[in-house]
Amino acid sequence: MSAVAEGCVIGVDLGGTKLLAGAVDADLTVHHRTNRPVLGLDQMELVEMIAHAVEGVRTSVGGDVAAVGFGIPCTFDSRTGKAVQAVNLPLHDIRFAEIMAERLELPVVVDNDANCAVLAEARAGAAAGCSDVALLTIGTGIGGGLVLNGEVYRGFAGGGAELGHMVVDMHGRPCQGNCPNWGCLESVASGSALVREASLAVARSPDTELGRALEEGRELTGPMITGLARDGDPVARGAIEVVGRALGVGVANLVNIFNPEVVVIGGGVSEAGDLLLDPAREVMRRRALRPGVDEVRVEAAAFGAEAGMIGAAILARERPPGFPLAAEPGSSSAVA
Ligand SMILES: [Zn+2]
Repeated sequence: MSAVAEGCVIGVDLGGTKLLAGAVDADLTVHHRTNRPVLGLDQMELVEMIAHAVEGVRTSVGGDVAAVGFGIPCTFDSRTGKAVQAVNLPLHDIRFAEIMAERLELPVVVDNDANCAVLAEARAGAAAGCSDVALLTIGTGIGGGLVLNGEVYRGFAGGGAELGHMVVDMHGRPCQGNCPNWGCLESVASGSALVREASLAVARSPDTELGRALEEGRELTGPMITGLARDGDPVARGAIEVVGRALGVGVANLVNIFNPEVVVIGGGVSEAGDLLLDPAREVMRRRALRPGVDEVRVEAAAFGAEAGMIGAAILARERPPGFPLAAEPGSSSAVA
């Protein structure tokens, strides 16, 4: 193995509210991390912020970086190399890999954030050694990733696998952000849905820690709800259970359609652990078909909220030949 391959690559996971970037070595050890908020930025500001975050990580590890991998919450078109549509961020129709390769003067690979997460979990995480894996990453929205027959499945043109936008209620509420659909899993089981559910529950039962925190002027957020739930707050636990049961309906669909060996649940909301997963497992067991339901495991992501970043780093290290969403510095004339 060459000296470069033994060094670090940078993995970046872009979410609906924050960016996580880290320098990752060949053993998947993370050597330096940075976190940046992304709320309120337009597309060009977002691109600038991401480039700055990567440069900061690169400097902190002495500049010796072989490539950068990006997991971004977007659909892609592998025929044009463009990131096409994001539900929860202002990214659309952008040559993301080419722009970043020019800006950073490094080889760049880009994929959907949940595709990166399922790659990490199937290689070395909760689904290590499994050939058929479904993953839901639950943050601001719900990302989806599939490994089928040992390969990440991206669909005909690179638009798959948006598992968070499967409809679980045809007459349900409008979905979030730029999604034109109604009743998507994302609308009832995302971090945003958790915040909505908790705010309804706390209005009915204001006399717990959660209600007191709001009275003190704290903002209701996913991390706050999961933290209080882990400390035993009954209202926070109830809200997570409602979201977990909705999640179970989505997981039952995945079990019926794909017959995965493992369904991995990642993203910030998965920090709730079995408070979220037990209701999901119970609903899935009552709804899914045999034989898929008999052996499937529903597990929290082993890499936790870092699965996307680790998967992006794996992609950057491997840079699969012919991968359509990749760019080298100096190879493009179409950079804005
Ligand atoms: Zn949707």
